[in-house]
Amino acid sequence: MSIAEKFEELYGSAPEGVWAAPGRVNLIGEHTDYNDGFVMPFALPHTTVAAVSRRTDGVLRLHSADVEDGVVELRVDEIAPRSDTGWTAYPAGVVWALREAGHAVTGADIHLASTVPTGAGLSSSAALEVVTALALDELYELGIERPQLARLCQRAENMYVGAPTGIMDQTASACCEDGHALFLDTRDLAQQQIPFDLAAEGMRLLVVDTRVKHAHSDGEYGKRRAGCEKGAALLGVTALRDVAYDELDAALERLGDEEEVRRLVRHIVTENHRVERVVSLLKAGDTRAIGPVLNEGHASLRDDFRISCAELDLVVDTALSAGALGARMTGGGFGGSAIVLVEAVDAETVTKAVEEAFAAAGYTAPRVFTAIPSAGARRLS
Ligand code: ADP
Ligand code: MG
Repeated sequence: MSIAEKFEELYGSAPEGVWAAPGRVNLIGEHTDYNDGFVMPFALPHTTVAAVSRRTDGVLRLHSADVEDGVVELRVDEIAPRSDTGWTAYPAGVVWALREAGHAVTGADIHLASTVPTGAGLSSSAALEVVTALALDELYELGIERPQLARLCQRAENMYVGAPTGIMDQTASACCEDGHALFLDTRDLAQQQIPFDLAAEGMRLLVVDTRVKHAHSDGEYGKRRAGCEKGAALLGVTALRDVAYDELDAALERLGDEEEVRRLVRHIVTENHRVERVVSLLKAGDTRAIGPVLNEGHASLRDDFRISCAELDLVVDTALSAGALGARMTGGGFGGSAIVLVEAVDAETVTKAVEEAFAAAGYTAPRVFTAIPSAGARRLS
């Protein structure tokens, strides 16, 4: 059954339209987005698809093919931040954020189905928010530009769901282009689409979903954010983005015996620099040379930011021993996914090595797929 047919079965008439928004993987620039820094995600072919119709009676009906809840019915004038802890908080939060911003959204029927793995660090939450926001923007003719749409979705996730995420995920889902990575300055949201077509150069980027998410990850994210803010305050800057790479040694000296803050600052400053290096290398057509930069990024996340875990380290170490050009954890950390840059001819060997290493360690089998830079959110019909 197609998504439009399922919509009709649920709600009794055909949807006004069908939209899609992708998950994303971050090539480089980890935990920099809440430090006003640089990130470089690209969109995956995996999408969350929404069939949507307007309503004029203030009712919001939500259904997802991926959960067992059935149709959930809410009233748009009653939804309020943190009132809802289930999956419906993401789309309801978008409706709340749109209405908060003064847009007259008077209800909707929404049916969703997704191929984005959830909780794998590939941003199924942003895909869900962005597809909802884009559908409502177009149906209600709100005329919101993509970067602002992403901001509204971030606001939904921060204020309504209560997850303190940065702006990267929603911007990636809303703004990425086919065959490109998105170089995003999270301070002013300036964007550059950087051509990133690995297949044409005989390479592949593998995503390895470790299938683990360690329970303490949310609390640890909050601690890293607070630590970065402390670092910025101690250094007298608005955000760690303002510490230039060639001022790093002086900044670390000023932080004296604040050992933990020093490590966080070192990661953010060197990571911003790595994003700029990757952008330069890709622009120069020197794609293979980004491998060592990815490796440095992993070491920094493992040793300075301290958000890796045994499963992610095993992917990276095994892939590099098996001949990968570069590898690093991606996303929030403590589980989720790693990315591995390989020569296309080595993809199978590297995949097999990682699978065997996981089996030997007694871990759940990882899910491995090739990430093809794909289009951002769009209308399908
Ligand atoms: P990630 O964004 O890395 O996948 P999150 O924890 O941020 O992980 O978001 C995952 C949550 O988003 C799920 O637990 C669920 O509540 C919600 N979600 C994502 N996709 C869907 C979907 N297709 N249907 C229902 N809920 C979804
Ligand atoms: Mg998420």
